[in-house]
Amino acid sequence: MVEKKEIVMFYPFIPEGVPEKVVEVLKSRWIGQGPKVDEFENEFCKKLNLNNAIYLNSCTSALRLALATIGVGPGDEVITTPNTMIATNTVILEQFAKPVFADIQYETMNIDPNDIEHRITEKTKAIQCVHFGGYPCDIDEIHKIAKEYNLPVVEDAAHALGAKYKGKPIGSISDYTSFSFQAIKQITTVDGGMLCVKDQKNYESAKRRRWFGIPRDKRENTPIGKVFDVSEVGFKYNPNDVFATIGLEQLKYLDEIIKRRDEIAKKYREELDGIKGVTLLENKNDRTNGNFLFTIHVDRRLDFAKMMHSKGIEVELHNCRNDMYTIFGPLRKDLPNMEKAQETAINIPLHSHLSDDDVDYIIKTIRRGW
Ligand SMILES: *Cc1c(COP(=O)(O)O)cnc(C)c1O
Repeated sequence: MVEKKEIVMFYPFIPEGVPEKVVEVLKSRWIGQGPKVDEFENEFCKKLNLNNAIYLNSCTSALRLALATIGVGPGDEVITTPNTMIATNTVILEQFAKPVFADIQYETMNIDPNDIEHRITEKTKAIQCVHFGGYPCDIDEIHKIAKEYNLPVVEDAAHALGAKYKGKPIGSISDYTSFSFQAIKQITTVDGGMLCVKDQKNYESAKRRRWFGIPRDKRENTPIGKVFDVSEVGFKYNPNDVFATIGLEQLKYLDEIIKRRDEIAKKYREELDGIKGVTLLENKNDRTNGNFLFTIHVDRRLDFAKMMHSKGIEVELHNCRNDMYTIFGPLRKDLPNMEKAQETAINIPLHSHLSDDDVDYIIKTIRRGW
């Protein structure tokens, strides 16, 4: 008889040195957006081999800022995935535009490039994708369509920190890529996000619009204070030096976190392969996974979930198909894979707080059946 454990789905990662560093900043004169923000952006780019990154108060802000920079406005359409955290799609509504949901691939949970083209209209302004659970989408296929119709691509990489596609780091590939440092993500700054922008002009504009459109580094110093012009309507999306300080500490552990999550995911893949009633997701070797979620499809999902909970292991669907929410209008009837996945997908715990014992216990429990 194995002793019953209590294993949670998520656990925020706060490394040792963080509290002291936070107190240090809090006691300094500068707690708002200052040098720590620049430093965090630079270190983030260095660590992940990216050209640029704009640190923001959230990934949701990053996504909205991307759409605003593209110029998505009232009546426009954005082709997007229904299988995601709701923020990916509420930002489209915030711009008074319409999310046009494309179907997903059952075996990856990502947007299906084959279901995009026939949804493009004259109103389409962008294509959005989400690397669900951290597994990169079929980016080449998506880019092929985007190029043909001259549409920008926005990657919501909130799950995909550290992931790679055909050798390239996520964040370096599409016109816009967003990351999240919300509490349960791979690394966290309590809240926060990053936006990577391909085009230099768009990057500069987005950076200004993060803080009301004020050109921070082009302000004139006069005896009565800083003088500047604002020529674009911006947002209050800036982060602060307190959060950036946490981010700088987190980055020191990123390699370790990525390695640990990868270890656990590999073990799950090996040990759960071939178990009756379990279907693993696709895992091609031309891409590496960010391993935010470990999603499986299971037969008799409700029984599976009840059994896991009875053994002290949290499991959950985590994200429901977004078109089931009233704000997006009626449930779509043309998303067969989404419909199927909504009935069978479930996530099992994956985070850097899991011990080897925890992972073995989870595997054993699933192997015993439900
Ligand atoms: C967490 C998450 C977001 C939102 O991130 P915030 O930083 O909380 O705004 C957006 N998209 C996906 C896929 C997410 O998982």
